[in-house]
Amino acid sequence: MTVDPTPAQISPDYNLAVCNLASGSKGNATYISDGQTAILVDAGLSGIELQRRLAARNLAPEKLDAIIVTHEHSDHVKGAGILSRRFNLPVYINDKTQAASPGLGRLHEIRTFDCGSTFNIGNLTIHPFSISHDARDPSGFTIGCNGTRVAIATDLGIATGMVKEHLKHCALLVLEANHDPQMLETGPYPWPLKQRIQSRVGHLSNSDSKKLLHELQHDNLQHVILAHLSEINNTPQKAFDEVAQALTRCKAQLTVADQYSSGPLIYLK
Ligand SMILES: [Zn+2]
Ligand SMILES: [Zn+2]
Repeated sequence: MTVDPTPAQISPDYNLAVCNLASGSKGNATYISDGQTAILVDAGLSGIELQRRLAARNLAPEKLDAIIVTHEHSDHVKGAGILSRRFNLPVYINDKTQAASPGLGRLHEIRTFDCGSTFNIGNLTIHPFSISHDARDPSGFTIGCNGTRVAIATDLGIATGMVKEHLKHCALLVLEANHDPQMLETGPYPWPLKQRIQSRVGHLSNSDSKKLLHELQHDNLQHVILAHLSEINNTPQKAFDEVAQALTRCKAQLTVADQYSSGPLIYLK
């Protein structure tokens, strides 16, 4: 990999850097860069708040190259339109998601993708794959550069065989751990909402996430970020304690993404 030596922020020895800016039902966004190309996967906070979260980690919105969108729920798209207009960013979105997102407003540029078809943004290779969630055409993504790959899989009711295939061999996973089944069961949500969350198009529980990670772990898995935790039906400690049990065969670091602040910038080889 040839790294441009000029920008002061570049640490010379990584293939990809990942920073979760927010995660949960009040907004989601993840920054990914190889030091040259930088993208956001989802932009589900206000534009100004996304700028604050980037600034908190010394990341400049002016250096972003694109936003890619997983699905139309407002916790994933809220700030996409404003950032696109303010920083002249193309928004990568599939047709059905775009049709279901009138709130995006005018975008600087729209680039459509199809689930299953790989595309490139600068140095990054993006592969969108279908996930099972109650949106029009929701997708997860793998993002690769120089042999290092990361995957983002939140908002999925079940991990299908195809989802698992895409999450294999990644250096970093952003993986949903939405709820503790017992807290959901005894919690304040009305029954239909409880059913929706537990359904095939809802959200993965801590124990679903543990089972999945137990299957997926491998020697080169460096980091797992647990994401999209429910504030009502989960706690960071419960999610961490449950899912940590999955990591029996690798030394990956496990962290829990926060709703209210940006996480650390994680460098991957
Ligand atoms: Zn969501
Ligand atoms: Zn959603």
